[in-house]
Amino acid sequence: MDLGESEKNWTDLIMIPYGRQDITQEDIDAVVAGLKSDYLTQGPLAPQFEQSVAQYCDAQFAVAVNSATSALHIACLSLGLGPGDIAWTSPNSFVASANCAIYCGATVDFVDIDPLTYNISASALEEKLQEAKNLNRLPKVVIPVHFAGQSCEMKKIHALSMEYGFRIIEDASHAIGGRYLNKPIGNCEYSDIAVFSFHPVKIITTAEGGMAVTNDGELAKRMRLFRSHGISSDPKDMDPRPVDEIWNYQQIELGYNYRMTELQAALGLSQIKRLDHYVSKRHELAKRYDSLLGDENVVTPYQNPDTYSAYHLYPIQIRGQDAAVLRKKIYGELLAKDIRVNIHYIPIHLQPFYARQGFFIGDFPHAENYYARTLSLPLFPRLPDLDQNFVVQVLLSASK
Ligand SMILES: *Cc1c(COP(=O)(O)O)cnc(C)c1O
Repeated sequence: MDLGESEKNWTDLIMIPYGRQDITQEDIDAVVAGLKSDYLTQGPLAPQFEQSVAQYCDAQFAVAVNSATSALHIACLSLGLGPGDIAWTSPNSFVASANCAIYCGATVDFVDIDPLTYNISASALEEKLQEAKNLNRLPKVVIPVHFAGQSCEMKKIHALSMEYGFRIIEDASHAIGGRYLNKPIGNCEYSDIAVFSFHPVKIITTAEGGMAVTNDGELAKRMRLFRSHGISSDPKDMDPRPVDEIWNYQQIELGYNYRMTELQAALGLSQIKRLDHYVSKRHELAKRYDSLLGDENVVTPYQNPDTYSAYHLYPIQIRGQDAAVLRKKIYGELLAKDIRVNIHYIPIHLQPFYARQGFFIGDFPHAENYYARTLSLPLFPRLPDLDQNFVVQVLLSASK
């Protein structure tokens, strides 16, 4: 797969990171053109980037923001999540998947993962919903996270949302370019809103940046309001009294400044052209890892046949009784060779902030057991085969 010219000469790179952006001369030219244009923010490029993501995902609306964290926040706000409400998510995620609900004054709880896919378990969700119904503690919003880029079982989760009356925000931060039941992740067929991240380690980047996509025009409108101070200049939104002035605008809600700049959008528009190439390159590298590690004493990432992963991550598990000790040794030996592997994720409920919300070790045993054994190997489109071989060689010699 030819990705075209890249700025970085990989033979010069000594350190091997777990993830890395790819920036071409075309990207640089696009950003420079944005810099020379009339608008640095609130110009035409962010709406163009929104259109291009909506089109790619087959969703009707897209709202560009300055991070996926902001996108999750305005998604929760647009669904009316607030004090007294409950949101559920996966403990095997980045803290932002849970924090967004706390920002709204809601309470967070978690549903344990499926030990095969590391995604939120649909059957654990069903059990927990039944219990919550009996206790009158049903969630208003559930936030499934497409871990490593592989979709959750959205069809089942959606059916449960119909039965128990909750709304769904897909945290698809890892998953742009992935597919579920042969349709693009983000088409929102089984959710209200899906959220993408464009942080540099993710599939495509805008430096910082995120996007919320939806098929619900009312939710899109609410998210746009929350993105920009809660201010509208559409007479339809306004209190009728003072609308007779053409300069009028009104603050309808308490919003934020979560806007994406034109420079970020210019980079996004340039990057999205290579999205499919990036994902197929990630698949090639994942297959190479699968075959290099297949006979070894590690668990390679299971792929649900309903899904085509965006492969943001390649998380392995170390087998055996002393996996946690061995994992630490492997991590240290890789780091000594400047191979910057990472751990995804320390379960959210074990973070001190969440421990203070009343969570304990043992609350979500599958997420905790997975965390004790996992290691994310370097995976990004321009990872050279030789570097990948080196990673595997150091990993295997450290596991002896
Ligand atoms: C990266 C990430 C986020 C946050 O993305 P930002 O764009 O950095 O705010 C949220 N959820 C998950 C699962 C992520 O991996």
